[in-house]
Amino acid sequence: MPVKTHIEDGVGIIVFSNPPLNPISASAGIPQAIEAALRTFDADPAIKAIVLAAEGRMFSAGADIAEFDKDPEAIAGPARRLDDVLDGLKKPVVSAIQGGALGGGLELALATDYRIATADAKVGLPEVTLGLIPGAGGTQRLPCLTGAAQAVQLITTGKVISAAEAHRIGLLDALAGDDVRAEAVAFARTVASDGRRRSRDQEISTEGGPEAIAEARGKAPRGAPGDAVRGALDAIEAVIVQGFDGGLKAEYGIFDRLLISEPARGLRHAFLAERAVARVPGLDPALKVDPVRAVAIIGSGTMGTGIALAVAQAGLPVTVIDANAAALERSRSSVESTISRAVERGRMSEAAGQAQRAFIGFSLDMEAVRGADFVIEAVFEDISVKQQVFEALDRLADAGAVIASNTSTLDVDRIAAFTNRPQSVVGTHFFSPANIMRLLEVVQGAKTASSTLARAMTFAKQIRKVGVVSGVCDGFIGNRMFEEYLRQAYFLLEEGALPQQVDAAMEAWGMAMGPLRTMDLAGQDIGWSIRKRRAVEQPDRPYSCIPDLICEMGRYGQKTGAGYYLYTRGGKPEVDPAIDALVIEESRRLGITRRPISDEEIVERCVYALVNEGARILEDRIAARPLDIDTVWVCGYGFPRFRGGPMFYADRVGLPHVLSRIEDFAGAYQGWAWTPADLLRRAAEAGTGFAALNGDVA
Ligand code: NAD
Repeated sequence: MPVKTHIEDGVGIIVFSNPPLNPISASAGIPQAIEAALRTFDADPAIKAIVLAAEGRMFSAGADIAEFDKDPEAIAGPARRLDDVLDGLKKPVVSAIQGGALGGGLELALATDYRIATADAKVGLPEVTLGLIPGAGGTQRLPCLTGAAQAVQLITTGKVISAAEAHRIGLLDALAGDDVRAEAVAFARTVASDGRRRSRDQEISTEGGPEAIAEARGKAPRGAPGDAVRGALDAIEAVIVQGFDGGLKAEYGIFDRLLISEPARGLRHAFLAERAVARVPGLDPALKVDPVRAVAIIGSGTMGTGIALAVAQAGLPVTVIDANAAALERSRSSVESTISRAVERGRMSEAAGQAQRAFIGFSLDMEAVRGADFVIEAVFEDISVKQQVFEALDRLADAGAVIASNTSTLDVDRIAAFTNRPQSVVGTHFFSPANIMRLLEVVQGAKTASSTLARAMTFAKQIRKVGVVSGVCDGFIGNRMFEEYLRQAYFLLEEGALPQQVDAAMEAWGMAMGPLRTMDLAGQDIGWSIRKRRAVEQPDRPYSCIPDLICEMGRYGQKTGAGYYLYTRGGKPEVDPAIDALVIEESRRLGITRRPISDEEIVERCVYALVNEGARILEDRIAARPLDIDTVWVCGYGFPRFRGGPMFYADRVGLPHVLSRIEDFAGAYQGWAWTPADLLRRAAEAGTGFAALNGDVA
């Protein structure tokens, strides 16, 4: 039964339940059942007021996002009808909110006369983060309660606020102790004789409203990704100008249009994919593993230090071990300055800073790994150094401890073979800066035990990372694809583009940073050493010499003040005519007549290179599903979230089109790099799309 009712001393109580997060889901019959219960109570002369409450740890997390690909009427229709029913009642309704009310859950509460919530509750309308606006009256009722300025702020940022803040701005009428339902019943009794106080009847305060609207319009992203923010502003303006009924009609229209827009589809996919990566195919969901209790990290360099901060931020004790005293000292002062900066800037309280410091210990002695149940190696990227460290860990680490390597390019199976317990070895490939980047590739070796893999995924969650399982290959999922993306960026330079054009085209398309700027940030020297290795390993796959020429000039990127760009003024890239000349000279040396290259070609070549290699990664079973690849790119490489990820994007463009463009490129400059992946060809010909390989995303 999705809804239960009972009566307490003249108050009709409706309790709905759709565990675990109580989405107001039409397919589960929630709005329909609430509607029926409301009508019954409203018609019962013995009842003076009604309380609307929910089971479980939160009132409602909103609508069920997995249902959003259905037609708008099926999604929003029942919730909207429920609001109409609420508006038409004779008796006042009080919402009793425990834990939180988000999105459609908050909209339901806004359509009742009063709202009372537990002090720990969080409320918000985060629809814009999914490329949408509230579509069941939220953009209309919130301004009625809080005034236009606050509503603009909340709806256009999607920010979730505390109950205390919500009470202060008039969204909530009262704060409750633990038993919110009992307090709501008492509250309902006191307001029963006042009659109704519908949100829609409250006069909207417009103080500061026009300024807030103008500011939010200015901040909205340009083009399609800003449509949701602009739509929200239009809906809020509509209620102010046209009144409630006209405004509501406008809101419904905007929501229905956005629901099927490309950015909303992409954002929805990214959201659902990020949830789905935690359900690892082949890993028994019933397999229970202990959470990690104590961590040791070997290597206190860039990565070891960043990982230690991430672990301590999550409230886990961590010991950082290094063989070099000076390196350990640098790590200690880097930890200290990161924490004190965060405290100074108000991003962390003094007490939280102290707690974090207390979680991190330093040692020069490998014996300090004892007592850790999760050990992460982050020493130099050199197989003989890894061998030495893994042999020592095999002797010293506790029985049952997971031993993880942060290697970015070495073979995890080879590393595991340095121990007598390869079943306990796994890769944990963090991204720099490790305390900030959300992605963690969890690399499953040939002998990695299920329990080890499950533990590593649990650890990812504990330290608030998005763990994605990858098989063993050079570069894993992300960097293996990045190499093909970069290859095209470089070939585009040889053929006629300049670095600033390639970067601008990719950034205009939505990448957080263009490929060449990314290399300047990461440090050109890393790629240089990989290319030197590749030149020996893969002589049949030539790469452009342009990045090598730039490295030979000592220009490693931001850290040397120059790379593809100059960084003389505080990290802002400036175009350097010397690099333009170098690029043009390289084309001449190669005998290439430079040609104008369109931004469209830049985007197609860089993105389809990702898609083609992504398909190969699926073929090779390095990634289990296209959605794993999408999550790696959205969470780790600044791929535009509103495009869902490279594989999702390819489906939206249409695989036959992608394949035909790849075939065009195969007939042109350096065409060898464009052999279409079999899987791509098959999926294009079958008309299935990559999505068919995702299984149940929801
Ligand atoms: P780094 O050079 O900054 O630090 C390595 C540290 O390991 C040094 O402090 C060194 O003293 C210590 N060390 C070396 N041998 C040791 C030993 N035998 N015992 C104990 N300590 C030892 O390197 P980094 O950039 O932090 O990279 C570490 C690992 O992480 C590498 O495998 C690298 O490929 C990988 N990685 C790096 C990045 C990145 O962006 N830097 C990203 C992902 C993965």
